[in-house]
Amino acid sequence: MVTEKLYYQDQYLGRFTAHIRKSEKDEKGRFYVVLDQTAFYPTGGGQPHDTGTLNEVEVMDVEEIDGEIRHYISESMEVGSECIGIIHWERRMDHMQQHAGQHILSAAFEEEYGYKTVSFHLGKELCSIDIAVDNLTEEVAYEVEKVANIIIIENRPIETRWVNREELSNYKLRKEVSVSENIRLVIIPDFDYNGCGGTHPKATGQVGSIEILHWEKQKSHVRVYFVCGRRVRTQLHQKHKVIQNLSVLLSSPQEEVVGATKRILEDFKEAEKTIASLKQQLIEYEAESLTVKAKEIEKYQLIKEVFENRPITELQQLAKNITTKSDMMIVLLVNESDEKLQLVCGRGKNVSVSMNQLIKQVLPCINGKGGGSDVVAQGGGQKLMSPDELINRLVDSL
Ligand SMILES: [Zn+2]
Repeated sequence: MVTEKLYYQDQYLGRFTAHIRKSEKDEKGRFYVVLDQTAFYPTGGGQPHDTGTLNEVEVMDVEEIDGEIRHYISESMEVGSECIGIIHWERRMDHMQQHAGQHILSAAFEEEYGYKTVSFHLGKELCSIDIAVDNLTEEVAYEVEKVANIIIIENRPIETRWVNREELSNYKLRKEVSVSENIRLVIIPDFDYNGCGGTHPKATGQVGSIEILHWEKQKSHVRVYFVCGRRVRTQLHQKHKVIQNLSVLLSSPQEEVVGATKRILEDFKEAEKTIASLKQQLIEYEAESLTVKAKEIEKYQLIKEVFENRPITELQQLAKNITTKSDMMIVLLVNESDEKLQLVCGRGKNVSVSMNQLIKQVLPCINGKGGGSDVVAQGGGQKLMSPDELINRLVDSL
């Protein structure tokens, strides 16, 4: 059943009357209708489908399957009846702006620098083209954007033409056409000739403007993100808001926001260095005060201490600091947090007990895991006993 494609006769047709020729469910159980004619553009050629209503029933999706244009709706409709179709115009106009903008941008890249577009994507918020080039410079992007916007301001006509294979040689096409019949060309005279089945405005002026946002390197090309038309304003609003907020937070005029942020980050780095050195001093001080508290057991000296919510790395530093200065020292440190117990065991170089073996004897009683060397070992487990009990077990195992 061939449906008359009204969107090719008049791309500005937002309301139409048609007859329902078929009303069925697809293999996924979704209702759809096929009409004798339609202004609903189905997903194709990189352009997303239209949405809208048929007799006030919402059209959620439009697909062309085996030459049949299916309008997916929430309920079935009576075959033979007449319906009024209304296209969600803001969405369609947006697609026309992005699609025509993409043609213009791709053409500008190729005309100015010979960069070919290998694929494109019209996304919900951003659009992108992949250009066959290793990298893109700021200057090139800026220049191409400028040229594309000049084409828009000149309000050049955008024409469409149906041709056959033989006639194709009359046109300087950007890309080989993939279909062999019903070939449709979208033409901006003296600038761009493209095989394309999408909907486009009558003239470039309706694209409004093009803004390249950013780009990223992919494997064998560069992906350039851009927006056209109304989306340029949306982007401008969003970015303006971000800069405005930053400007207030940093108490700095917009043009100095970058410098102000750099200074804050530098200060932060300095502060981090200072904190690290103060922590080191604190640990040295702590090590000294703990060493004073050491008790003699047999031939060794023993330090045992319980901490709360201390990072394990700090306790490791502490143990290391003490044991490098005292050859006969054994240090047993336990850290208690909300859910777990952690322990660090270290020894001086003249102690013959293995810390790895010591910790492994005790860890099972807190369902813990851990290990280390003969000199230092650490681990952690569940809070199945008090930290003092855990330390006593360590002492008993010595
Ligand atoms: Zn196209």
